[in-house]
Amino acid sequence: MITGTFKTTKSEEIFAAAQKLMPGGVSSPVRAFKSVGGQPIVFDRVKDAYAWDVDGNQYIDYVGTWGPAICGHAHPDVIKAIQAAAEKGTSFGAPCALENILAEMVIDAVPSVEMVRFVNSGTEACMAVLRLMRAYTQREKVIKFEGCYHGHADMFLVKAGSGVATLGLPDSPGVPKSTTANTLTAPYNDLDAVRKLFEENPGEICGVILEPIVGNAGFITPDAGFLAGLRELTTEHGALLVFDEVMTGFRISYGGAQAKFGITPDLTTMGKVIGGGLPVGAYGGKREIMQLVAPAGPMYQAGTLSGNPLAMTAGIKTLEILRQPGSYEYLDKITTKLINGLLAIGKETGHAMCGGSISAMFGFFFCEGPVHSYEDAKKADTVKFGKFHRAMLEQGVYLAPSQFEAGFTSLAHTDADIDRTLEAARTVLSKLA
Ligand code: PMP
Repeated sequence: MITGTFKTTKSEEIFAAAQKLMPGGVSSPVRAFKSVGGQPIVFDRVKDAYAWDVDGNQYIDYVGTWGPAICGHAHPDVIKAIQAAAEKGTSFGAPCALENILAEMVIDAVPSVEMVRFVNSGTEACMAVLRLMRAYTQREKVIKFEGCYHGHADMFLVKAGSGVATLGLPDSPGVPKSTTANTLTAPYNDLDAVRKLFEENPGEICGVILEPIVGNAGFITPDAGFLAGLRELTTEHGALLVFDEVMTGFRISYGGAQAKFGITPDLTTMGKVIGGGLPVGAYGGKREIMQLVAPAGPMYQAGTLSGNPLAMTAGIKTLEILRQPGSYEYLDKITTKLINGLLAIGKETGHAMCGGSISAMFGFFFCEGPVHSYEDAKKADTVKFGKFHRAMLEQGVYLAPSQFEAGFTSLAHTDADIDRTLEAARTVLSKLA
């Protein structure tokens, strides 16, 4: 608990210098704390469930580098494996056996994946999967959902979540209208809207892409029947169903959200956890579709650093740790305790709050629930969230700096960490206006 000793002098100095060097002082927008106000914290190091900033403050971290750190930061087995791999060179640009190992692990775990292609980020995976959807169906229109984020490629910057939602931006300047003309949008959890789009665009829609559990408009779960309904509709219209599991893959269960909900999409994108903290993305799915990817087929997609030996190593080690019996039961137990505790304290202290969790992913909104869509999420009190965020920071708890981002736990979060977090929340919420 930081109480009384919280200082940010060095963070301020470094961030002031950074702003002269890099747009907004950051390498990715949400890190700048714009939507919660106040000084962003400059990290010095991370370990287990904790982060330390350059001023020496320690935090219980619920961002986990935005998802990858599900085994806890700097897990000794992962670090050791990366060090050993680095001795053999940092990049090959040639086939390496480590790719086979990670590919087999992903194929064994994720129901929809029969073949996989590794890339370097979630954005790349989603860009490529859309090209593949179009190549396979020979149709150009795609359906995405309001508030879902599929990386920053032009075609997806339409009613997008994550930083786009956080900063309240409309679609980004620089994205040609012609590029997004084929991107159709529907409200999340609204099957009728999707049905209508299929009826209005007969034979033109290559497929539907979605976050099977939304984490980029805050935490929003699929209503009963929504995923099954999308599976039926896409099949009925000869279109593909794509789950963007960049966030949920290996986090919701070892087989992702698709294993949890028992709905198998045609294609899946992944990232974050499968790179164990190094830059990795992947897309995979039915063999028949994946065989279209070059050089097996004509759909071009490539990458200098793709299948990088350090990244493959970190991913393999991370999945080895995760597949130990009891991992997901533990993650679910501590995360449920965290969110239930937080909502109970909110109620006791008179704040309108709603939220939930599945496995190691959680979220809450400062509004009466339930939240089924991005429209609902936008009713949350973001000013109150900003104050809550800052006060929690001062209590030694690092939450995602936006009302519209999910939170993450890890195997390294202990019962005591959850207790300390709830104690901090009680202190903050009992004073929060
Ligand atoms: N899809 C989803 C569901 C994501 O959550 C993210 C990143 N938060 C992306 C795609 C993009 O991944 P990356 O930031 O690695 O490009």
